[in-house]
Amino acid sequence: MNTINETDWKDIVHRCFRCGYCKFTYEFSDFNCPSYKKHQFETYSTGGRMWLIYGVISGEIPWNQGVANVIYACPTCGNCIENCRFDKFKDFLVEFIELARVEATKAGFTPPKQLNLLKRIENPEMNNPYGDINSDNENLKKEHNLPDKAEWVYFIGCTSNYRQRDLRDATINFLKRANIDFTLVDEHCCCSPIIRTGQVNPVNNFINYNLTKIKNAGATKIITSCAGCYKTIKKDWLKYENDMKIEVYHTVELINKLMDENKLKFKSEYSKTITYHDPCHLGRHMKLYDIPRKVYGRIPGVKLVEMKRNRENAWCCGAGGGVKIGYPEWALEISRERLEEAKDTGASVVSSICPFCRTNLFDANKKYNMDFEVLDLLEILSTMEYEIVA
Ligand code: SF4
Ligand code: SF4
Repeated sequence: MNTINETDWKDIVHRCFRCGYCKFTYEFSDFNCPSYKKHQFETYSTGGRMWLIYGVISGEIPWNQGVANVIYACPTCGNCIENCRFDKFKDFLVEFIELARVEATKAGFTPPKQLNLLKRIENPEMNNPYGDINSDNENLKKEHNLPDKAEWVYFIGCTSNYRQRDLRDATINFLKRANIDFTLVDEHCCCSPIIRTGQVNPVNNFINYNLTKIKNAGATKIITSCAGCYKTIKKDWLKYENDMKIEVYHTVELINKLMDENKLKFKSEYSKTITYHDPCHLGRHMKLYDIPRKVYGRIPGVKLVEMKRNRENAWCCGAGGGVKIGYPEWALEISRERLEEAKDTGASVVSSICPFCRTNLFDANKKYNMDFEVLDLLEILSTMEYEIVA
């Protein structure tokens, strides 16, 4: 895994050339950075942000809320990584931004809305970023007759557990029908929201708590239907716990495997045109581009069409990196641009495999009357007739 540690980054962040390549995708003659597109002021570009970060960590610029706000005005989509011309340096651009947010937090300048993420997650009655009372997964486990011990744990994730329960229930039902030996645990937040916003103090405790629960359930595999949980558990947790001894999968990988093995037998069709939105956390951050397309493409009746910007060039949904809570109107503007692009494809369904993308795209679809169905893959499957053979 290509990553950088908490001390080395300060010695290399100044290497940014300020050449500005990271602002555009030349292939499309358009901005690729949602932050620069919104503000069109150099400081909000990746290069500008790198130099601002260098200024504060070197002590040349004092921390204040205005400086911190610029560092937080970025959904950590990673599109700059694809366009920066500086090999070996570019891989760390998003980490630089996250690590600068750690410094902002140490200096006491986490923006108040993003600070709420930490307060809610640390609240023992919540342990999730939405501020709801902690969900009772033990009850859910009983409702679904799931065992106490199993090979797999379905890590539901906070967005599916508190805001997208149709997706959560569709995933549980799919795993049951696939005869997967799985269970649920009383999970706490995976910590994606606080890692992205630089509020990392409690992360170790949360990882330990979740891993203990998962291992006590006898599991050696985690499956999740959330792109954010997937990236966080598979990549970020390793920075804290380098010997997890747990395999991590996204549900799309399981579905793809079942399709490859000819075990998923559809008995109905889904006769709609779908365009697939690459979640940043699954695409650019984890390089999972082909598997989702293979899966959608093998659902009978589906016509899969691509948006102009796809795969590594996909335009972000706008929700990540603390933007949905910190700058909710801007998050929706970013999604509107994605939906406008989807309109050009002629699709009636915009689908993704991340509950957070689904939430933001759904909200924008409603606000701007875009007239799409915004659905997760698992929700689409739940409307179909199929059997899974052993
Ligand atoms: S981040 Fe990369 S592309 Fe952007 S200004 Fe710096 S060196 Fe240039
Ligand atoms: S992560 Fe995305 S929004 Fe942030 S600087 Fe890079 S391209 Fe811009």
